[in-house]
Amino acid sequence: MKEILAVNGGHGVAIDDWPQWPHASEQTVKSIVDTVHSGRWALSGPSRGKPAFEQQFAERFAAYNGSSYCVPTANGTSALVIALESLGIGAGDEVIIPGLTWVASATSVLNVNAVPVLVDVDPGTLCIDPDAIEAAITSRTRAISVVHLYCSMADMDRIMSIARKFGLSVVEDCAQAHGAMWKEQRAGTLGNIGTFSMQQTKLLTSGEGGAAITSDKGLYELLFQLRADGRQRQDRPVEVGQMELINTSSVTGNNYCMSEFGASVLIEQLDQLDAQNLVRAKNAELLTGLLGEVSGIATVSAPEQVTSKTYYHYAVRIDRNEFAGRSAAGIATALSAELRYPVSQCYAPLTDSILYQPHTKRRYNLSDEHRRRIDPRQYHLPEAERAHDEVVTLHHPILLSDPSKMELIVEAFVKLKEHADDIPV
Ligand SMILES: *Cc1c(COP(=O)(O)O)cnc(C)c1O
Repeated sequence: MKEILAVNGGHGVAIDDWPQWPHASEQTVKSIVDTVHSGRWALSGPSRGKPAFEQQFAERFAAYNGSSYCVPTANGTSALVIALESLGIGAGDEVIIPGLTWVASATSVLNVNAVPVLVDVDPGTLCIDPDAIEAAITSRTRAISVVHLYCSMADMDRIMSIARKFGLSVVEDCAQAHGAMWKEQRAGTLGNIGTFSMQQTKLLTSGEGGAAITSDKGLYELLFQLRADGRQRQDRPVEVGQMELINTSSVTGNNYCMSEFGASVLIEQLDQLDAQNLVRAKNAELLTGLLGEVSGIATVSAPEQVTSKTYYHYAVRIDRNEFAGRSAAGIATALSAELRYPVSQCYAPLTDSILYQPHTKRRYNLSDEHRRRIDPRQYHLPEAERAHDEVVTLHHPILLSDPSKMELIVEAFVKLKEHADDIPV
């Protein structure tokens, strides 16, 4: 019998009862209320006689990752900016980044007046390709800003060995990989600095928020000041009503501080992260097994060195020949309709991203040479382009469903494949 695709007005395979994200508990509400009544809403407010939630979260998140230090920030982008600044990256320096990522990977480099050098990704992991990194190194290269994208991790063994060989710093952007492990070591602790985003869609969230972690004391002290307008923490106990942040400084910063509201929520959300990651990983494993039986579909997998897998998005590569030539854009729209759940097309490469147009910003208009160096259209990234056309991604809350629901996802893919000619172009 000929079925009608949901995108064309037919019945979908699923009803709209997927888990909600973010996940609020009674403790979330209590954390907010406690902060309201604490009388301290910011790290930069006067002390109320106990450690700020911001400091408590920093200590817990560093410990969770097995790192020595954590500096919470307003968001993931500011964590990237202070990471680059603390490493001494500045005017004219080149920072190698993957061409397939969220736009902040590039804008954070531009924000410190450095030059983002876009390189291609590994088609298997969708993360930055170590061979492409090595080919892009010049005498001006100072750092690599690695992204652990979607449900995978970049090859940290090879990247760290390249970094050592050429004397480069490494920032690990873990905005999509809270809790992931590379050979039993947490993402974010393999490079010099790990950065995180706690924006609403991420695996750990307070709506907006971020953090930078490091085990280097000197970098920590710089990171601390760079996000607090240069201020340092009083090195002796602070009395009630006194300021904890004092106006001594070795460096000029900006205000990228996390509020006490965000920090108190993150303390409570962090307690749930491992259990949620485990549910997501189990469902992902189940889904990968089921989708493995469908021809024309390949799931994006993490390298075997990833001993704890995380799933910000579950990524699936489509063989377009088996889907009537349709691209990821059309398939994502049709899947969203079948599942009544938003399915996305893989990021556009930064060479072709509507969100990445550095020439529109007056502040980067430093010289003709600089404008030429930051022009993303100079790069050719075939694997990133192919991923944009072939990969669809499912946001992680769907993996917090009952395991039986994974079959609905498979059903949706199969239905689309069988009626691929009906998918609107
Ligand atoms: C979300 C994200 C960021 C930016 O984080 P914000 O908190 O939104 O500023 C940076 N890099 C990657 C890979 C991200 O996914």
